[in-house]
Amino acid sequence: MLYQRSSQLFAEAEKVIPGGVNSPVRAFKSVGGTPIFVKQAKGAYLYDEDGNRLIDYINSWGPMILGHAYEPVVQAVTEKAKLGTSFGMPTELETKIAALAVSMVPNIDKIRFVNSGTEACMSAVRLARGFTKRDKIIKFAGCYHGHSDSFLIQAGSGAMTFGTPNSPGVTAGTAKDTLLAKYNDLENVQSLIEANPNEIAAIIVEPVAGNMGCVPPTKGFLEGLRQLCSENGILLIFDEVMTGFRLAKGGAQELLNINADIVCFGKVIGGGLPVGAFAAREEIMNYLAPLGPVYQAGTLSGNPLAMAAGLSMLESLNNDAAIFQRLEEKTAYLEAGIHRVLKANNVVYTINRVGSMISVHFDANPVVDFQTAAKGDNETFKKFFHGLLQEGIYIAPSAYETWFITDALSYEDLDFTINAIDKVSKTL
Ligand code: PLP
Repeated sequence: MLYQRSSQLFAEAEKVIPGGVNSPVRAFKSVGGTPIFVKQAKGAYLYDEDGNRLIDYINSWGPMILGHAYEPVVQAVTEKAKLGTSFGMPTELETKIAALAVSMVPNIDKIRFVNSGTEACMSAVRLARGFTKRDKIIKFAGCYHGHSDSFLIQAGSGAMTFGTPNSPGVTAGTAKDTLLAKYNDLENVQSLIEANPNEIAAIIVEPVAGNMGCVPPTKGFLEGLRQLCSENGILLIFDEVMTGFRLAKGGAQELLNINADIVCFGKVIGGGLPVGAFAAREEIMNYLAPLGPVYQAGTLSGNPLAMAAGLSMLESLNNDAAIFQRLEEKTAYLEAGIHRVLKANNVVYTINRVGSMISVHFDANPVVDFQTAAKGDNETFKKFFHGLLQEGIYIAPSAYETWFITDALSYEDLDFTINAIDKVSKTL
């Protein structure tokens, strides 16, 4: 495949955009080569500026769970655009999507919409601090909660891809309030709580981690966090930016049957437009301005185009009783196929999967936290990535990312992908 025009466009972009991209991982730095410039996408496929067709396993890093240019979403946005694109005033649409989200997700009474997953997590932590009147938070190495200051401490995927676990620009004052724990290690969390009595406002966690590849919680981990939080007056924040409306209608809370105190959303909830949200029971949400003292706001929050896209997406998911089962089956089929061909070609690997989140790690040991995720062989990953690209398959340009399976993928697409992996495996 030729990427001539993409390379030219990247060179032009580099002149006026730092690194040529508006989000670092897009720059292909950890895999080498130049990024692909997309012209359009439909269903399971991307079409690039050189006229190549690629089967897409990233899907805008998660949002396009029903495929690209999904007709009901496109129609909803187009219709709304004709009526005005932003008002900065309340609309009925906001109540409709809020009511639907609250009905789909367990354990939440109210939800506030923002413009990104970063904003959702940042606001959730501020709310938790205001509510508990405590300053510190616990986050886990390898979990990513967006790029706000207090989260850029060993933040997984994007940040780790560039070898900058702690970004310059985050002050020591901010960093000292973020305590770092090991994912899937309850004892570690317990000792942090004991060392900081009555100081911890919240534990924020990806209930299924997706930013060090896909790393499922081990048995008892989330249950243990729930218990530690309840016993110590700490709020448990589930960052469901990846898992929300993906692993089940009610996200990881529903799938894993654990109640969080605050839940953060992004990606799927916006149907491909810039949307995030955070939600909790009434007592906590009423702490937010204008009802309560914790300030949070946004000129474009609840934007009508974004809400129209999100509502249409959530309605489609809510009305399709089989959607999450279908995603499970397609991803399980892909997983079984990848196992088969990697084994047959004597590749050293581990596959992690929960529902439609899946990752391939080039290491034989179980990947259960950031340390074990970091053991994957990046040279093999690079070859794997570029090999698949040549076969017309687009996976994330970083070994620390999860693949996001879309319902638009057909079994022929999956078979094509498994055959391509077979072919590429022989070159690793
Ligand atoms: N939380 C998680 C779990 C994420 O995966 C991401 C982004 O990938 C974020 C938060 C940040 O969301 P956004 O990129 O929309 O700011």
